Amino acid sequence: MGPGGHFRDRGSGLVFILSAPSGAGKTTLIKKVMEQLGGLQFSISYTTRSPRTNEEEGKDYYFVTPSTFQQMVERGAFLEWAEVLGNHYGTAMPNLEELGLQGRDLILDIDIQGAQKVLRQIGQAVSIFILPPSPEVLKERLLRRGLDASHVIERRLANAKKEIGEAHRYHYVILNETLQEAVETLKAIIIAERCRKDKSSIFDRKMKEWENTDGKNHC
Ligand code: 5GP
Repeated sequence: MGPGGHFRDRGSGLVFILSAPSGAGKTTLIKKVMEQLGGLQFSISYTTRSPRTNEEEGKDYYFVTPSTFQQMVERGAFLEWAEVLGNHYGTAMPNLEELGLQGRDLILDIDIQGAQKVLRQIGQAVSIFILPPSPEVLKERLLRRGLDASHVIERRLANAKKEIGEAHRYHYVILNETLQEAVETLKAIIIAERCRKDKSSIFDRKMKEWENTDGKNHC
């Protein structure tokens, strides 16, 4: 393991919340970072929205009916849930202790309402907002990906404006001008958070090793 290797490859049950207007490039960014950094698990949300052509059940989302979703709400199965553009989305209750033992951190891709709800419940969660370079670039990206009808794109753009107005509430903001730079920045944030002494699982263990030495050279 190279310098800093431990923090590159191992999580400890931390929660990283990522929010961005759709089209800001969040999905690709998360995918790239998960390929390059170890110890990350993506939280697969439940949604009542229909799958897009490129989406897979159990990989991108669990696609459920409104009545199944409602039953899950009533059962308390969600850490948080929200309505976004007419559909329901919910984050399954995570077992952070278990994830910590497995050396994993959790990535949540959720909207601004969900982010605030999670932060209220998990004080240690780290929130990150992905900012598209400009309104023009966002519109162009939404048109280019060809997934939505034009009236949906207009709604997404109006929603984006509202969401960007909330970016100041987040711990970190990443400007997604080029994918590579945004990937490096997100990796740097995750590694830095893993090194924080109040969040680091190895800090206490290492300190004990030092306390148990008498300062003499035993080589
Ligand atoms: P999309 O339909 O484009 O996949 O997602 C629309 C919005 O819903 C995005 O902002 C996405 O981050 C958000 N979202 C996805 N899953 C969840 C979730 O479990 N909870 C909340 N609150 N928002 C979610």
